[in-house]
Formats: sequence, structure tokens, C-alpha cells
Amino acid sequence: MAEKFDVVIIGAGAAGLMCAAEAGKRGRSVLVVDHGKKPGRKILISGGGRCNFTNYDVAANNYVCRNPHFVKSALSQYTQWDFISMIAKHGIAFEERDHGQLFCEDSAKDIVAMLLAECDLPTVQQRYRVDVHDIEKTEHGFSLKLNTDMVECESLVVATGGLSMPKLGATPFGYQLAEQFGLKMVPTTAGLVPFTLHKEEKEAFADLSGIAFPAVIEAEDGTSFKENLLFTHRGLSGPVVLQISSYWTPGQKVTIDLLPDLDLEETLNAMRDKHPNQSLKNSLSRLLPKRLIEVLIERGDLTDKPLKQFNPKDITAMANYFHQWSIAPNGTEGYRTAEVTLGGVDTDELSSKTMETKKVPGLFFVGEVMDVSGWLGGYNFQWAWSSGFVAGQYA
Ligand code: FAD
Repeated sequence: MAEKFDVVIIGAGAAGLMCAAEAGKRGRSVLVVDHGKKPGRKILISGGGRCNFTNYDVAANNYVCRNPHFVKSALSQYTQWDFISMIAKHGIAFEERDHGQLFCEDSAKDIVAMLLAECDLPTVQQRYRVDVHDIEKTEHGFSLKLNTDMVECESLVVATGGLSMPKLGATPFGYQLAEQFGLKMVPTTAGLVPFTLHKEEKEAFADLSGIAFPAVIEAEDGTSFKENLLFTHRGLSGPVVLQISSYWTPGQKVTIDLLPDLDLEETLNAMRDKHPNQSLKNSLSRLLPKRLIEVLIERGDLTDKPLKQFNPKDITAMANYFHQWSIAPNGTEGYRTAEVTLGGVDTDELSSKTMETKKVPGLFFVGEVMDVSGWLGGYNFQWAWSSGFVAGQYA
């Protein structure tokens, strides 16, 4: 005989645990299964171990989704303020960093412990190291063949996340299940991920690995971000690159303003008037890391000579070069290091109010498995909390 539950949730990550707690509070009997050995593994490593759990400023435009309006309902049913209240209720100390990002003061473990405490209800069971082999639609819900036994449920919530970081248990399970039920998918690709460079640029810039400074980066669709740019031994990274990677497609260029806080033409003209014999290298090294200037000279992008030898046209061209440094990435580091997966279950298939699929009553998708990806800054966890919460009200 199969064990019966009102709700089975596959995936004990951020969205799955939130959904379990909410459905359990409504008196629904809930089983959460995960193939990993413990819950919330991504939460534990997120934000450098301090989990950037939400942001003071959350809006639909902080998300990448084919339907930009889809996220609005869930984000308004369960806001960042609701999650902050839960954090406060559990006495978790937190701090604000740049751009309204909220982190645990102590450890991401506090977030997992909080979610487990919220799930500590007579109605909620959790089982780990469980593989789901087979799922079938039944007259009243679903039957699941687990490696341990058979279970049946009225509502099935898929909270298996995206493909990023396979080392942490990421699988395409949710996508395969969506296909099994005939749901449309938006092709998946790595998001919030460093860029790799073509061989010549990679070799030229490899020496700059570890150098970081503020920059503005713009994708071909006009989206832009201002944050730190970091050179790595493979290419380009830092928050500004992770952000723009979600708006970049292979073959496209990105344009980087390497000196977003000053007018280089004006600055160089002033320097030339004051120190006409100063070399270009020394002048620019006051504004940007010296090694970067040396590499640009070595590559022949700049010519080092005294400032007085540059005419106004040269200076305008140089200013344009630094304010609009154009580079075509070779690719990205892929799912191995990506923080999120772009694409997933097409949101057209889901009710934005409940996360239930329109075609298969009782089947819900929550969190990153669907075509919703947030910016860097706590937005992905906020989506997990909001979508998990709403599904928990209806599953
Ligand atoms: P997940 O948290 O990935 O949970 C999915 C669960 O499903 C996992 O427990 C997995 O074991 C389980 N599962 C998968 N396949 C199966 C299967 N076949 N059978 C059973 N169980 C299965 N976002 C932020 O907002 N702030 C941050 O600071 C932040 N930092 C990050 C740092 C890193 C290194 C990474 C990789 C991501 C980070 N993110 C951050 C993104 C965030 O972690 C995810 O968007 C979020 O965890 C998605 O929640 P989820 O519940 O949908 O999926």
C-alpha cells in the first residue's frame, strides 16, 4: 500500500522548505523528499557563507523572465518585509551591504535552521537520500515511486532548482518532469556567471588576475550595471560581469566604461596642460591600476609618449576607448560556477498567483526550476521564498 500525503514536495532547498512550512501550517500533510543528504545546501554556501537572503528593494525589473509581469503577484503576496519579519522572529542578526543587500551577520546556517524550525510541525515529514524514480498522474493526484517505497499525494510541488553547481546536487529532474507532462520549456543557460575570453585576450589579460575596480558594463540590449569588475586567470568576473551575463548571448559584445566616475577627456586635457612632459602611462596609472595600463600599451592599444605629443583628437579617441571598452567574451564558465540557471519551465504554463500548472491540476513548480532568475543581490532567494510561500497556500 502506498503512503498517502496531501502534498509531496521534491527538493528541500530554499523554495521547497518554504513551501513545506506554509502547507504544513495549513494542516496539510506534507512529505519533502531530497536526493541529497541534508537540506538547503545552496543556502549554506551562499553569500560567502552568510547568505544574501533578500534585498530592501525588490521589484519585477530585478528578474529575468520571458514574461516580465509574471513575478509580480508572488512578490506582492510574500514580500521581502515578510521574510525580514521571519528573520526577526527567529532572532537572526543581519546586516545591510551595498545596494540594499541583506546578509546574515553570523552564518547562513541560521537561515537553514530557521526554515527547519518553521517546518517542525506534526504535519511535515522530511526524507533525505531519496530518489524519485517514477511519477504518474492518478485520478485524485499523483503516485510517486521512490527508491524506498511508493507514495501518493493530491498536490505535487517540484522544487528541484536549476542546473548550476552540479556538485551541490543540481539535476535536470524538474525539466524532465515538465516535459513528461507536456509543459513548454524556455531553453536553459548559465546566468550570474563569469565570462571567459578568446585565447589572445585571455593570455594578454591573465597577468591582471585579481585586479578589481568599479566599472559600468552594458549589454547589446542596453541593460547596464555599475559594480566592481574583476580580472581572473580565465577572463572577466566580479559583480558587474555576473549581472550582465544574464543579459548576454554568445557572439554578442559588452561595452565597459572603465572610468565611470570621471570625464577622461577633460581629465587628460587638464593633465596635459599641467604636466605636458608626463608620460601617458604615468598619467593613466593615477586613474586605473598601473598593470592594466602596461598591458594595454604592450598590446598596442595605447602608445606611451609624453602628454604634450597627443593632440585633442587623440585625447578624444583615448577617452572613448576607456569609456567604451568593447569586448566579445568567448563564453562563460558555465554551470560549474554559475549562481543561477536562466530559462526553465515556461511561466506561461503556470498561474502567477499560485504556481500551479494550468494543464495539470495539482502540479506546482516553485523557485529556480522555472524561467525566473533574479539579479545578484538576494533576489533569487526572495523568489524562492515568494514562490514557495504562494504554492504553500494553494497546494
Ligand atoms: P535549490 O536551493 O537549488 O534546491 C533544490 C533542491 O532540490 C536541492 O536540495 C537538491 O538537492 C534537490 N534536488 C535536485 N534534483 C533532485 C532530484 N532529482 N531528486 C530529489 N531532489 C533533488 N541567491 C541569492 O538570492 N543570494 C545569494 O547570496 C546567493 N548565493 C549563491 C551562491 C552560489 C554559489 C550559488 C550556486 C547560488 C546562489 N544563489 C544566491 C542562488 C540561490 O542559491 C538559488 O537561486 C536558490 O537556492 C534556488 O532555490 P530552489 O529552492 O529553487 O533550488
